[in-house]
Amino acid sequence: MDISTATKREEAAHTLPVYPQLDFVPVSGDGSWLTDADGRRVLDMYGGHAVAALGYNHPALLDAVDKQIRTLPFQSNIVANPVRAKAAALLTAFAGEPFSHAFFVNSGAEANENALRIAFLQTGGKHVVAVEHGFHGRTAAASAVTWGAKEKWYGFPNAPFDVTFVKRNRCDAIASAFREDTAAVIVEPVQGVAGAKDLCPTYLKKLAERAKQVGALFIADEVQSGMGRSGLPFAISHSGVTPDIITAAKSLGGGVACGAVITTAEIAAQRRFGDLGTTFGGGPVAAAAMTAVVETINKEGLVANAAAREAQVRESCVVGPIESVQGKGLLLGLRCKGPARAVRDALLRKNILTGLSGDPNIVRLLPPLNLDPEDVAHLADALADIPDGTC
Ligand code: PLP
Repeated sequence: MDISTATKREEAAHTLPVYPQLDFVPVSGDGSWLTDADGRRVLDMYGGHAVAALGYNHPALLDAVDKQIRTLPFQSNIVANPVRAKAAALLTAFAGEPFSHAFFVNSGAEANENALRIAFLQTGGKHVVAVEHGFHGRTAAASAVTWGAKEKWYGFPNAPFDVTFVKRNRCDAIASAFREDTAAVIVEPVQGVAGAKDLCPTYLKKLAERAKQVGALFIADEVQSGMGRSGLPFAISHSGVTPDIITAAKSLGGGVACGAVITTAEIAAQRRFGDLGTTFGGGPVAAAAMTAVVETINKEGLVANAAAREAQVRESCVVGPIESVQGKGLLLGLRCKGPARAVRDALLRKNILTGLSGDPNIVRLLPPLNLDPEDVAHLADALADIPDGTC
């Protein structure tokens, strides 16, 4: 038995059987490339669900985490910390005006859970508007606003509050979805898990207008689309809407678990001691990682690189089994002429790792933000070599 198969079996023997796993077991990475124990090298066009913002082995992230773990690996929010202070200042500056305050957590779901809690505390509302096909995480509140969770995997006996799902990109459905007691509307500006589906700017503007009318907060869930991945710091800016809250995670730590709720001074001023809390959120190692990620995105021009690589994918990858490209920046969906699974599997046989989505015809790309042009060319060549018949 090869080492990768043995590893899969060992893991399956002692972990819950909730993940179907690929026939590739990476043990190290460098740049955008992964290597398994037998020396097989695979181009990572999926980035661990959009986490590996800087790829693997980036010296800035390695140095920051290494230095922090040796000096002060952990202290909670009971004491101030210079690394946390720096991460908050950098992240809010990255988000731009009017954002000035952050609350740090450990994951995307936890960021959304706290964003919703802020909206309920601030408005006194009891209801949330979410968008059909949106995904917001697996905790009780985050999955209550996730399309289809109730039918498929919600698992809890009740949702914690009322939710109305509004049809995607249907402006005429917006007005009636809101109530006088709506606390928030939560939106992924580009729906990631759904298959890199863009929400149209007019639709997002109308959602924001209606939210304002009833006094609800607009939450942009940028857990997947944020941190420059869309070709702008946060994808909501493509629509011209300024949200009240942005949530971030995944790419934010470049591989170190973390998340953030980013908001304005006005909203921050209404929170009191004890309203929100976490042990690990904003810990020194996570803060050092966030700092390194934001500094590197700025220094290496990775927001612009995401936009440039998108253009390259659009120009070169509509070949072989691919009929069109959707999404923004490096959150892209390759629409296949047939089932995406067959294309994903064919690409992996050619040593390129990609992902699937809720749409059975979409292969999803979430590569590192510092992806090289040669790697996109490599993907295009591999796709051209896959016969349409694969699908
Ligand atoms: N929100 C969006 C848009 C996501 O794509 C995800 C995860 O895929 C989440 C929230 C949940 O993030 P996490 O898995 O870190 O809890």
